[in-house]
Amino acid sequence: MKQEITELIEISRFYGKNKEFVIAGGGNTSFKTESTLWVKASGTSLNNITEKGFVSLNRQFLNKLTSKEYSTDVKNRENEVKNDLAASKIDPNSELRPSVEAMLHHIIPHSFIVHTHSTIGNALLCSNNVEKVIQELFGNKALYISYTDPGYLLYKKTEEELKKYFETTGSYPKIILLQNHGVFVSGENINEIKQIYNFLTSAINNKITRDIDITENPIPDAFIKWIPKLIEKFQEYSFFTVRNTKLYDYFLQNSQTFLGISKPFTPDIIVYCKSKYLFIEDNWQDTDKVFSKVSAFHVKNHYYPKIILIKGIGVVSLEVSQEKADSVADVFLDMAIISFLSEDFGGPHFMNKKQISFIENWEVEHYRKKVFDKS
Ligand SMILES: [Zn+2]
Repeated sequence: MKQEITELIEISRFYGKNKEFVIAGGGNTSFKTESTLWVKASGTSLNNITEKGFVSLNRQFLNKLTSKEYSTDVKNRENEVKNDLAASKIDPNSELRPSVEAMLHHIIPHSFIVHTHSTIGNALLCSNNVEKVIQELFGNKALYISYTDPGYLLYKKTEEELKKYFETTGSYPKIILLQNHGVFVSGENINEIKQIYNFLTSAINNKITRDIDITENPIPDAFIKWIPKLIEKFQEYSFFTVRNTKLYDYFLQNSQTFLGISKPFTPDIIVYCKSKYLFIEDNWQDTDKVFSKVSAFHVKNHYYPKIILIKGIGVVSLEVSQEKADSVADVFLDMAIISFLSEDFGGPHFMNKKQISFIENWEVEHYRKKVFDKS
């Protein structure tokens, strides 16, 4: 195996195993030469990735795509891009699908790239003062990209911003910060990537004044015995995870405090937890009332909640396997941390309705979800 691919695997696992950077299938990494781009395949996880988790793409072919005209219809366009990315695979028989962010990896010139949904990064990137604080902390050491629908549009916007950045500075940024999404760090070797991540996270950390407490509170036995009733009744999910921490106590005080975790911050959160969460403020022991709330949620949103927040108990995540229920619980807890820390940067900044509906209707994310459901 090529030495650089060994290093790519090493750095991918390093960040992939750390929940402060990557949860479940989130994030992606790459290595490139003049002619080839090795990028994480969609739906694979960084924490245990092997050489087989990367798909190699022909960069000459990708270059041609940068000037290609695509359909103006969103569905057709994303379909065309998907097919072109598939056609750029060096091994045409490979079943792997390149990450949707493959074109971003292609246009950033540095050899190694580690893209994560870093918690501390997102505390800033999902806040109201994001631009001001980035300017203050990083000046032109980082390139900030305001929220853009992922996929083709995000790639085009980044391409344009990279060009402008190059025109003013004569170089390309090694830090790209995507609003309500995450961080792209690039460098010529994996040590440089680690150094840049350390620089980035400690700069943001130094601005944080709030103490976060995620030690777990005990869950009452009676509640654990009660939950199967709910599962039996709705039959959508058969596994659950309950988490309660001091942090959830804070958000679950009343309908006002719940607002801080009532909407998604990033596309990833929608993929795992969906975009609506059910808050039960009343006594959970009133089973009929809880059932009718779940039913009403279903009527309104056309799906059963994957996240139910219960005052005095904590957050219940529901899924089709234990592993998935745990992943959903991890992603939601991460969201609560982001919201809490964002208060140091002017408070939380959620995705808006239009941005949310783009993700909900996006085939690419459906695919990612499908791979997650099968895993
Ligand atoms: Zn991402």
